[in-house]
Amino acid sequence: MASKRQIWVGSVPIGGGAPVAVQSMTKTETANVQATLEQIGRMHEAGVEIVRCAVPRDEDATALKTIVEQSPVPIIADIHFNHTLALKAIDAGAHAIRLNPGNIGGAEKVAEVAEKATKHKVPMRIGVNSGSLPKHLRELEKKNPVEALVTAAVEFVELMERLHYEDFKVSIKSTNVPNTIASNRLLAEKIDYPIHLGITEAGTKWSGSLKSAVGLGTLLADGVGDTIRISLSTFHAEEEVKVAWEILKALQLREKGPVLIACPTCGRLQFDMDATVQEIERRLEAYDEPIEVAVLGCAVNGIGEASNADFGITGAKNEGLIFAHGKAIRKVPQKELVDQLFVEIDKSLARDGQVEIDETQSAEGAAWLAKIEEENAGDLTPEKLAALEAQKAREADDITAPGEGSDPAPIDESVSPVAGRRFARN
Ligand code: SF4
Repeated sequence: MASKRQIWVGSVPIGGGAPVAVQSMTKTETANVQATLEQIGRMHEAGVEIVRCAVPRDEDATALKTIVEQSPVPIIADIHFNHTLALKAIDAGAHAIRLNPGNIGGAEKVAEVAEKATKHKVPMRIGVNSGSLPKHLRELEKKNPVEALVTAAVEFVELMERLHYEDFKVSIKSTNVPNTIASNRLLAEKIDYPIHLGITEAGTKWSGSLKSAVGLGTLLADGVGDTIRISLSTFHAEEEVKVAWEILKALQLREKGPVLIACPTCGRLQFDMDATVQEIERRLEAYDEPIEVAVLGCAVNGIGEASNADFGITGAKNEGLIFAHGKAIRKVPQKELVDQLFVEIDKSLARDGQVEIDETQSAEGAAWLAKIEEENAGDLTPEKLAALEAQKAREADDITAPGEGSDPAPIDESVSPVAGRRFARN
């Protein structure tokens, strides 16, 4: 279940029903203040809400002061092994400290940091990593790594509570996706503190994004997790931020900027859809509005499943159609399709989302679409096959299609994978 307690990292609430916060980590040398602030700026543009900086040396702790003062988002100091760096980071104004109580040199040192953090009202993230479990849990780790991870995390929570310090969130990180899922599920049953999610050393942009989407997406859909960090092997930290947002947007936990939907293409494709989709995706990055834009590779299905999109295009060999909310706007030459799509988007945004429709042009576009549909009426396209399969499944289960019938069954939010969060946490 989502955590009950809430902490604040600077101005960002974590847990207790707050929106799942997007965080990431700088990859620069923290002591290089200019490079670090520039990277934070790029991450901020991509939508980061909290940034963590590694503090392995005194000069990094010193640099934090300027970074904290000039950063547009709260800064967490990432500390390992040396608790004095945590103390210095608090003095430098860090909004939070990340600490692994298992590698900081004993409970007394944790106590020293907790005392100073309490005095300065600085929260902490206490973390457990699969690679650094306490010695007494190593045997258990061989037999049951999930139980070992959760036991370590709960022991750290109990230690902090004995120190009368409760202003923290907890993370369990592993390179193993099933273990990450199982351990965080179990942890969420045992504690009510906010949970930070991440897959350690997830990999490259491609494989790491997928691993993170599967691992973190599964947990978030269960309602577990209050802040996420995507770890990718790239110097471009802003890429991690973009992936984090895509995961949250896909689960409808947060809204940020446009959503692009595109057909997978098939042998009916008659234009260079790859380049078109990439161009549209690139241009959409400049928009903050949560508009949904659909790109269909051909017109044989009509507007079909894209009829709910705010805007869309469907292409053919020489011409294409721009549509909005399921209605044709106008037919345009293929070469102008993308430019004209953005003309329509901009016009609509300037009119508070209202789409201006010229009925004559719309009718021409609809007729063009209907003609193509008619000519291809017998084609079993991927979309038609999916619709047929869905229809069969509904008949077998005797249920009504969305929008069909007078009284469709209400969604049971208690069994929805995003129950209680889907609309409340945006
Ligand atoms: S039939 Fe469907 S998948 Fe194939 S190009 Fe047309 S819209 Fe895309």
